[in-house]
Amino acid sequence: MATTMLVNVTEEIITGLVGFYLRGVEYQTFCHCEHCETKIIAAVLNELPSYYVTNEADRNEAFAKLNTEDQVERMNRTIIHAIHTIGQKPNHQ
Ligand SMILES: [Zn+2]
Repeated sequence: MATTMLVNVTEEIITGLVGFYLRGVEYQTFCHCEHCETKIIAAVLNELPSYYVTNEADRNEAFAKLNTEDQVERMNRTIIHAIHTIGQKPNHQ
C-alpha cells in the first residue's frame, strides 16, 4: 500500500519560493528572520487556494497543474506583494 499523506501542495511551493526570494539579491534589504518569513508565507497562503493531496501521485499531478505560466505568475505576484507589505514594517525590534 502506498504511503498516505496530507499535504497542501500550494504550501510546499510557496514555502520554497518565499525562501528563494528572501535570499535573493533583490530582497536583501528586507528582514528575512524566521518570524518575518513565516508571516510572509502565511499572508501568501491566505490569498491563494489550498491544494491538498493524500498520495505521491496526486502530489506530482498537483505540482504539474500549478506549474503553468498563469499560476506561477499569480504566485510570484502574491509573494512579492506580501514581502513588500510585511518586510517594510517588521513587527519586531
Ligand atoms: Zn524579521
